[in-house]
Amino acid sequence: LPVSGDSIRRRFLSFYASRGHKVLPSASLVPDDPTVLLTIAGMLQFKPVFLGKVPREVPRATTAQRCIRTNDVENVGRTARHHTFFEMLGNFSFGDYFKKEAIKWAWELSTIEFGLPANRLWISVYENDDEAFEIWHDEVGVPTERIKRMGEDDNFWTSGVTGPCGPCSEIYYDFHPERGILDTDLGDDTRFIEFYNLVFMQYNKKEDGSLEPLKQRNIDTGLGLERVARILQKVSSNYETDLIYPIIEKTSELANVSYALADDHKKMNLKIIGDHLRAIVYLISDGVFPSNIGRGYVVRRLIRRAVRTGRLLGIKGDGRGNLEGAFLPVIAEKVIELSTHIDVDVKDRSPRILEELKREELRFVQTLERGEKLLDEMLVDALSRAKENGTAPCLSGKDAFLLYDTYGFPVEITKEVAEERGASIDMNGFDIEMENQRRQSQAAHSAVKLEVGNGADLAENVADTEFLGYNSLYAKAVVES
Ligand code: ATP
Ligand code: MG
Ligand code: MG
Ligand code: MG
Repeated sequence: LPVSGDSIRRRFLSFYASRGHKVLPSASLVPDDPTVLLTIAGMLQFKPVFLGKVPREVPRATTAQRCIRTNDVENVGRTARHHTFFEMLGNFSFGDYFKKEAIKWAWELSTIEFGLPANRLWISVYENDDEAFEIWHDEVGVPTERIKRMGEDDNFWTSGVTGPCGPCSEIYYDFHPERGILDTDLGDDTRFIEFYNLVFMQYNKKEDGSLEPLKQRNIDTGLGLERVARILQKVSSNYETDLIYPIIEKTSELANVSYALADDHKKMNLKIIGDHLRAIVYLISDGVFPSNIGRGYVVRRLIRRAVRTGRLLGIKGDGRGNLEGAFLPVIAEKVIELSTHIDVDVKDRSPRILEELKREELRFVQTLERGEKLLDEMLVDALSRAKENGTAPCLSGKDAFLLYDTYGFPVEITKEVAEERGASIDMNGFDIEMENQRRQSQAAHSAVKLEVGNGADLAENVADTEFLGYNSLYAKAVVES
């Protein structure tokens, strides 16, 4: 290998260590922060410092933070660059250095330390950030045509609905410079990949959406390890890097398929397993166990999707001849083998992780088989009804809810299966059923409280997280009262 993922991580950290940054460990995937469900970026563990709520211990730090972004789950296997689990390498300044140093070091890291050709790098800045534009142009020497001004969606970074934020500037790698400099769109996945984001953290976003200037100006950055590995290892997607490919290889071995010869759909399924198994293992390792609420439900859905995807790939039982067995633990062992430099604790926790996976998979397979039969009947019905009426085939919200409620089918799975068969699903109807059930269980809840009289020490008063949406990056953890 030209450059291993592990060496990229190591080189990033020592680059910044030799520039006065303290190397700190990754924080847990479970943040100590009620406004976000899971750790979505390296800055999260430093939020109180950025906000000036706790004094800084060091002026500069650097980390390799493991992250989960459930909002990217639909992108997994579809784009070449998104994962639900990934590592974000970051350098941080707590009221110490600002734009100029951050930009110059990011450039030096990219072009000298990683050796990326300068003429392959494109820059985005926030539309009215003239200062950043000038540093890139006048001091670093990037030509005007390779610096793009972009709007709030791309170049104003916020960690959540509230919290520290600011304009940002990103570095993109160009895989196809021969396509020229006209009509370029940095969002064009077939040509560019964003790999480094520098956030100039200057504001605190308040509940009402207003921006309050922070006492100090900070730097928060994020560089996607898998993306840089993809560039340096010269492979066609993050999934083919040494950080993930061994997991895909293991999966193809169990499924008895070849990744190289697989069609796009099979490839996508192999990538889904390569992605989800990492997310699942690291989440369980950080203490998130499958359940029906909050973070636990995130893991449960990822596990269920992985199980179903494995079956679509043709994996039977444990994939090694035991039809009553589970295959997720077999693949998880590979993830654990690769974990040494990502999280040292995973190996120690592996017996518990494997046990949990086995139990969850075997339990789900039973309901899956019953649910699959029912869903099949529902779809046959929906398709023939549509044919009769000359309408587009659509599965009712009631049906989707029954599958969810009784058979444990995450609605995404139902949607996926329906789409494979050419039918859509009535999400609106599903949401209504869901809301009805929520209201009923709330009513049941308060009835219980009334009976007991004083609810102060009831189990349901224990603070917990309520899951507010699988696709919401900022799903809030709320305290049940
Ligand atoms: P994209 O536009 O590609 O979705 P982003 O702008 O949402 O990325 P940032 O929030 O800026 O990403 O995060 C900082 C860096 O983390 C990105 O530049 C990228 O290298 C990496 N990154 C972000 N999301 C993912 C993901 N889902 N999988 C892998 N790496 C990611
Ligand atoms: Mg994104
Ligand atoms: Mg982006
Ligand atoms: Mg970005």
